[in-house]
Amino acid sequence: MLSRHGTRLLFRKEPAISQPTQELTEVSQVVLPFSFATEAAVRPAVSLYDTVNKGTPLAIIEDDPLATVCSSVTGAVSGERQIQHPLYGVLNCAVIDCVPDMPSPEVPVPLPKALTPDLILQTAETADIIDELDGVPLVLKLHRWQETGCDFLAADGIEIEPYASSAWAVLRDHAEQVLEGLRLAALCIGAPRYHIAVCLSGQRRRSIALRIGKDYLYQTDSYYPKAAPVRYSKHGGRGTVKYGSRVCRIGIQACLALYRALYLGEAHNRCTLTVAGDAVPHPQNVSVPFGTTVQQVLEHCGLIEPPDYLILGEQMTGTAALTSDIPILPGMTCILAFTAAAIKPVTPRTCIGCGRCVQVCHAGLLPFEINRRYRNMHYERLGSLSTHLCDGCNACSYICPCGIDLAAVVREAAATDNTISVDLEEDDDA
Ligand code: SF4
Ligand code: SF4
Repeated sequence: MLSRHGTRLLFRKEPAISQPTQELTEVSQVVLPFSFATEAAVRPAVSLYDTVNKGTPLAIIEDDPLATVCSSVTGAVSGERQIQHPLYGVLNCAVIDCVPDMPSPEVPVPLPKALTPDLILQTAETADIIDELDGVPLVLKLHRWQETGCDFLAADGIEIEPYASSAWAVLRDHAEQVLEGLRLAALCIGAPRYHIAVCLSGQRRRSIALRIGKDYLYQTDSYYPKAAPVRYSKHGGRGTVKYGSRVCRIGIQACLALYRALYLGEAHNRCTLTVAGDAVPHPQNVSVPFGTTVQQVLEHCGLIEPPDYLILGEQMTGTAALTSDIPILPGMTCILAFTAAAIKPVTPRTCIGCGRCVQVCHAGLLPFEINRRYRNMHYERLGSLSTHLCDGCNACSYICPCGIDLAAVVREAAATDNTISVDLEEDDDA
């Protein structure tokens, strides 16, 4: 079914969504980047055979302290590696052999008398919380929202793509703590209203609503990609916000991490992600320390042979990976592994002008027309088609009955800058 908000995708969340979350405690080795900073000068703070504890900084970055990565495990540094990560590019990493943690009871930290915005900001910074929605440090987002103002803060657990259910898994296990983390984030930025946005079946939704109160749970519609985390209306009455209100989005796992940092003094060093796809014998949600390799997670889910296709992220917006020997880092919430039989190659045919790509484009673009002008090399006529508004949701490619990869064409068209680039220097040399 199509609408101006997109299209409905076939959900393939079972059986992972129904399985209990598995906590990977026996990780043998993690691979962690010294830093995500590409420009700042990075000075490693650990060297070969050093012992590191959970939370030990791996590098000192004077220009950009927020880019410092801390160890997610206790262990010993056994080497250094440079890896080409499909999502993060080239990373210099420390390899840490893990030693099993002694099980320790959760000890609440004494809370100060008042949780002030400054204290919440400072805690988000010291706990290294990274929002899984966009991979941005939470302290930066909170700081920005403090400056710009926020009318409504929505914890985004919508998961509108076919496979992911990690937000649901975290909500199912920690709904009350997620809501409290959200309340604290809203307090920090002065947002007067907040809620958790989901797209869940009736039974699952009711089970969460019973625990946190239905006023704090919002069920969005299930159109991909434009499932909005709030409902807009002209007057902004009960359960809605006025058009033009400033709505900010925060991840479910980031809310939980904020709660755990403030109430238990824990650093953000784990994430929950969905492992699914037809090549995975036991699809499920797993909770792993950052730096665990994709290979270890796939093996935990019963996969022995390398899959034919490995996707980091979801079906519509994920990135293909050539190897599973790469670490899981903040911002990753889904891994998909497929056999060759599940991926049907499509031979693109000529556009039949059905208009479906226009109907699903939530950015209001004309993908078929961009395709036509780009193919005919009318680059100077692309300017009026606003190709820069495309966010790469891939809905147009998904819906096209002729198998045209329109999203890729729109991306290439945007890169032309509406003109043919001629490298005169190269011509001169030739
Ligand atoms: S990929 Fe771009 S052009 Fe295609 S539907 Fe999404 S926003 Fe529109
Ligand atoms: S969906 Fe495909 S066939 Fe239909 S108008 Fe768009 S490009 Fe043409």
